[in-house]
Amino acid sequence: MYHNYQDGYVEVISGCMFAGKTEELLRRVRVLSYGRQKIQLFKPLMDNRFEAEMVVSHAGTRHESIQIQNAIDILDHIDETSEIVAIDEVQFMDEEIIKVVDYLADRGIRVMVAGLDLDFRGEPFGVMPTLITKAEFVVKLTAVCMRCGAPGTRSQRMIDGRPADYYDSVIMVGASESYEAVCRHCHEVPNKPCI
Ligand SMILES: [Zn+2]
Repeated sequence: MYHNYQDGYVEVISGCMFAGKTEELLRRVRVLSYGRQKIQLFKPLMDNRFEAEMVVSHAGTRHESIQIQNAIDILDHIDETSEIVAIDEVQFMDEEIIKVVDYLADRGIRVMVAGLDLDFRGEPFGVMPTLITKAEFVVKLTAVCMRCGAPGTRSQRMIDGRPADYYDSVIMVGASESYEAVCRHCHEVPNKPCI
């Protein structure tokens, strides 16, 4: 049977650190590029862990990307022939990203975003809850808890070798900072208010 439906919807790839979100986003980009689909990949300017104009997964997969300062800037870079827009590290985007994603999907573009669903405190991360509820398709990837081996769903922030405090600022100048994937039981957030 022939279906003549309209294109355009939103997919979210969510999860903690070391769950393979970027790898999954790049896998989808690669599969679609085999199908000769026109794809544009964006990432926020602040993500400078790896080369500037590439999105690179921990596993080493890479794809060229456009770095943007503000969510609305995506619209300035959209090629008229683009069929797919992918955004990595979407949790770092400002709130306008919600309108931008809706706008693109409403106009027939398949929008794929990847981002951290929880911050280091284990609280919902910025725009992610809204994106997840508005999306047509959502996957939550899990890592492996680096302490006990259970499904890892939290990003454990360590500062100078100790678990980061609930009230520590997001940017700690001069501190040595690292992250681990952990499960809910092994996640340590000193001074986190309970109930
Ligand atoms: Zn654990």
